Amino acid sequence: MRVIVVGGGIAGLGAAFRLREAGHEVVLIEKDETPGGRCRSVLWNGVWAVTGAFAFLGAETNLMDQARKLGIDAPAGLSDLTDAHQWNVWVKRREAVHFGAFDLMAAARHPFIPLSEKARLLATLPTLVRQTLAGDPRDITSSAAFDTVNACEYFRRYSPTFVDYFLEPCMGMFCGYGEDDFSLAWTAWSSSGKLSWGANHIWSFKERGAGRLTWELGRHFLNDAGTDYRLGEEVLAVRHGADGVEVDARRGERTETLRGDAVVMAVPGNRVAGLMPGLDAPRRAFFDTVDYAGHHIVYYVLDRPKGELLDTYVLPAADGFRRTGNLRFTDMGDGRTFAHSQWKDWGCRQHAGASVEELLDIAWSDVVEVLPQLSETVVLDRFVSLQPDAICKRPKGYIAGLAKFVALGPLDRVAFCGDYLSNSTVGQSHWSGLVAAEQLLART
Ligand SMILES: Cc1cc2nc3c(=O)[nH]c(=O)nc-3n(C[C@H](O)[C@H](O)[C@H](O)COP(=O)(O)OP(=O)(O)OC[C@H]3O[C@@H](n4cnc5c(N)ncnc54)[C@H](O)[C@@H]3O)c2cc1C
Repeated sequence: MRVIVVGGGIAGLGAAFRLREAGHEVVLIEKDETPGGRCRSVLWNGVWAVTGAFAFLGAETNLMDQARKLGIDAPAGLSDLTDAHQWNVWVKRREAVHFGAFDLMAAARHPFIPLSEKARLLATLPTLVRQTLAGDPRDITSSAAFDTVNACEYFRRYSPTFVDYFLEPCMGMFCGYGEDDFSLAWTAWSSSGKLSWGANHIWSFKERGAGRLTWELGRHFLNDAGTDYRLGEEVLAVRHGADGVEVDARRGERTETLRGDAVVMAVPGNRVAGLMPGLDAPRRAFFDTVDYAGHHIVYYVLDRPKGELLDTYVLPAADGFRRTGNLRFTDMGDGRTFAHSQWKDWGCRQHAGASVEELLDIAWSDVVEVLPQLSETVVLDRFVSLQPDAICKRPKGYIAGLAKFVALGPLDRVAFCGDYLSNSTVGQSHWSGLVAAEQLLART
């Protein structure tokens, strides 16, 4: 079988790797000059700065398997970030409340949430536990029963403190989400399943961070005679029929039509319908609902040691921080401090027309608003990684729509993968690529 994989992010790379393992011919097409999509890092001032994913969850064992197959799983090359995952929430613009790990047990034990509210939260437990036991940790649609409810609305009835100073800032920090962007179905599945933030370990690679995996996969395909590896080619259209598939790809001025037996669509969900003119109406309707939260990361090198600054400041929207979600500071050991601030979806959208310089100035003004003691600090260097389409949203109704899409069953000669099908993480996206490959293999 000759399979054309459209998109060289972690999902497409994972699908291509699995198809090659099974001995099939692969054409892998990526529009950028480097693979990785939203899972890439750049070396900046001696630090690997992520332009997308930063860390993996230990429970995402498929990633460790992939690392082993690439020969990059030696413990010396890995960083265990579990202990570094400590968070302080900046409450009422004056007090940093240390939450430690961002998992529900940490919240349950924390004295900051009043006992009376915790007692009320107990009322939610039977339903949540029932749902957790019924749910499949690899299948988000197993939580669809909760999908008519917004998570913040649901929990606010029991504990406003939990929502304003734990749940919402946590979502803002990890996903750039605002309150309306996560349904109870997704929250319950993602926080109580084996793939939760509290999963055994959080890890990354010392070199290139999470982007090491996509970098190594790219190098692997470069040297693989069975893969026609095409970087810097943009796919314009994909047609599928009973006899095979056709893909129009453009490099510079030249457009070429490639033919294959099947195609894996590994582009972000909001791009799929536009590339597939022949897609049926029910699937098109699903893809039209896929939406992404923006997540910009602004990096700084500061001319001062870290000193009394905390490692993290998570900024609650309840206190008016709707643009910048969190700040992070690391001592560089040479009198300088490496810092970054992260923007939430709302801020990315509000300032979509601003120049890079304007964005950098606005972002720094947010940092100084939180920490006025930095107003005299010299910023030696700075850059912003812009990701207007970063993390797939999970508002009310999304999981039910996804369940309906899945129920439509496989499409002849086409398989879909990407983070919109499960959770918006590297591990889940890679998993969806493996599933897409398996679906095609099962049909041949
Ligand atoms: C700022 C940020 C921080 C994140 N932090 C984490 C984290 O810490 N941990 C974690 O697990 N996840 C994190 N994520 C999420 C994770 O990075 C993504 O869920 C995952 O990388 C998505 O992979 P994908 O292959 O589905 O999509 P993508 O990475 O978007 O890959 C799709 C690829 O398709 C290509 N493409 C698109 N259109 C075309 C076309 N027409 N022709 C050819 N190629 C095309 C794109 O260039 C891209 O390379 C983060 C994401 C961002 C943006």
